[in-house]
Amino acid sequence: MKQYDAIIIGAGMGGLAAGVLMAHAGKRVAIVEKNKLNGGRLTSWVHDGFTLDLGVHVISRGMNGPVAQCLQRCGIEPNLKFNTVRPTTSFKGEVFKFPRDVARYVPKEDFDKLMEFMAFIRSLSDEQSHEYDRIPLRDFLNRYTTNPFVHNAVNAICVVYIVVYEDTASTGEFIRCLNWEAKARSSGYPDGGCGSIPREYVKAFESLGGELYNGTAIERIAVEDGKAVGVYVNGELWRANMVVSNTGIKRTILDLAGEKYFSEDYVEYVRNLTYTESTMIMRIALNKRVTDVKMFSTISETPKTVFRDKLREGVFDKSAASVFAVIPSNFCTGICDEDKQLFMSSAGVPYGISRELEDEIFNYMLDFLSDMFPGFRENIRWIDKSYYQDVDAFAGEDGNCIGVAQCAGQTGADRPKIKTPLEGLYIVGGDAGGSGVGVENAINSAMEFFDNYVNV
Ligand SMILES: Cc1cc2nc3c(=O)[nH]c(=O)nc-3n(C[C@H](O)[C@H](O)[C@H](O)COP(=O)(O)OP(=O)(O)OC[C@H]3O[C@@H](n4cnc5c(N)ncnc54)[C@H](O)[C@@H]3O)c2cc1C
Repeated sequence: MKQYDAIIIGAGMGGLAAGVLMAHAGKRVAIVEKNKLNGGRLTSWVHDGFTLDLGVHVISRGMNGPVAQCLQRCGIEPNLKFNTVRPTTSFKGEVFKFPRDVARYVPKEDFDKLMEFMAFIRSLSDEQSHEYDRIPLRDFLNRYTTNPFVHNAVNAICVVYIVVYEDTASTGEFIRCLNWEAKARSSGYPDGGCGSIPREYVKAFESLGGELYNGTAIERIAVEDGKAVGVYVNGELWRANMVVSNTGIKRTILDLAGEKYFSEDYVEYVRNLTYTESTMIMRIALNKRVTDVKMFSTISETPKTVFRDKLREGVFDKSAASVFAVIPSNFCTGICDEDKQLFMSSAGVPYGISRELEDEIFNYMLDFLSDMFPGFRENIRWIDKSYYQDVDAFAGEDGNCIGVAQCAGQTGADRPKIKTPLEGLYIVGGDAGGSGVGVENAINSAMEFFDNYVNV
């Protein structure tokens, strides 16, 4: 029978980061991952000479953030080369720089209020930001201005960070994401695609003696005398002093461990947690380069909350749609041949919308890109789509983008706890602890886990 200090379920970034930190601390650790590929929502693969990401990523603080810091804590200098990129935002086809260009579309007093809002946010420390965790961003911004254009512009940034809209987003979380990114000034995308990040972590984990098992789904966490004691792998019990799940809080508590080991209140709490928007992604390979643009997003005139609410009702409102795309082959190596080009575009959508509606959105994205970039449509080599159902099948959690939504009531002191009420069972990644943008939030969760429950 196998026996470990810790078994980690899932090789997403939270699981890999926890594994590296524990292996470096001399623990005997196994990571068990259901997929052949590692990295969860940050995975990538090569098809026809193009490196494709499951998601469409930009890492908020690049080499100045948790991606590098976690490995550096273990004395490992990551072999990653990030290329800095900032989104070019456009409104009605014109380049739009936030916050400066808001002045072109709103009365002066609203613009002044926006600048006051930004200055206040920038003046806050991390500790002070937590005072605003429970306030939805829309309510907080309303204290300054109710101008819809200002709200749309701020919301566009919020969605890129935490993939929930201003009516539910936590102001405190928005403040931290914005301040950390502004301070680091190093948002970027790595050479070789985002999969090079989990690859670096796997290399580190294995070099520190960690054992990684791919293509192995855990169906059950073993519980004895009110304590998590291991996992069942193909019917065999693998024992561990700690079980660390990177599969999301709902799956861990409700399915893998089982409700019966928790109080009704806790089960109810877990059931009621909300996720970020689900995500659909389109990757378009071109036979020829048609633009030098690296990354862009658009702002719509209609509030994005209206767009989301209509989608929930089964209606795709083009007037409120926006497009976010990264063209990594324009600024990174190892993506495709130099004479070719890769576009990746994604959209956040409510869980449960139909495939027909997703197809309408995909078609809109294609039309938009064709209008924006002459030569785009004629040079399409192939298109690879992931519906949110595919993201769900690959990484779980309803195909949501980040994990438990960083909305008011689910961040800071209200974030699900890493240590579950079941002794020996912990949760790392986008669903518990942590703070920050996507991947960095997941790695921060793992560092928090290590500092509070391993390195003590
Ligand atoms: C389209 C899209 C765009 C995104 N854009 C960005 C961005 O620009 N910037 C950014 O920072 N973040 C972005 N993100 C979010 C980011 O990818 C996630 O927040 C982060 O990768 C989540 O990490 P995690 O640790 O929660 O693990 P996950 O990625 O959720 O991985 C969980 C792992 O657990 C495994 N697993 C599940 N069940 C089992 C089981 N029973 N047994 C074994 N293994 C199991 C899964 O296969 C998976 O590998 C994006 C995500 C998507 C989908």
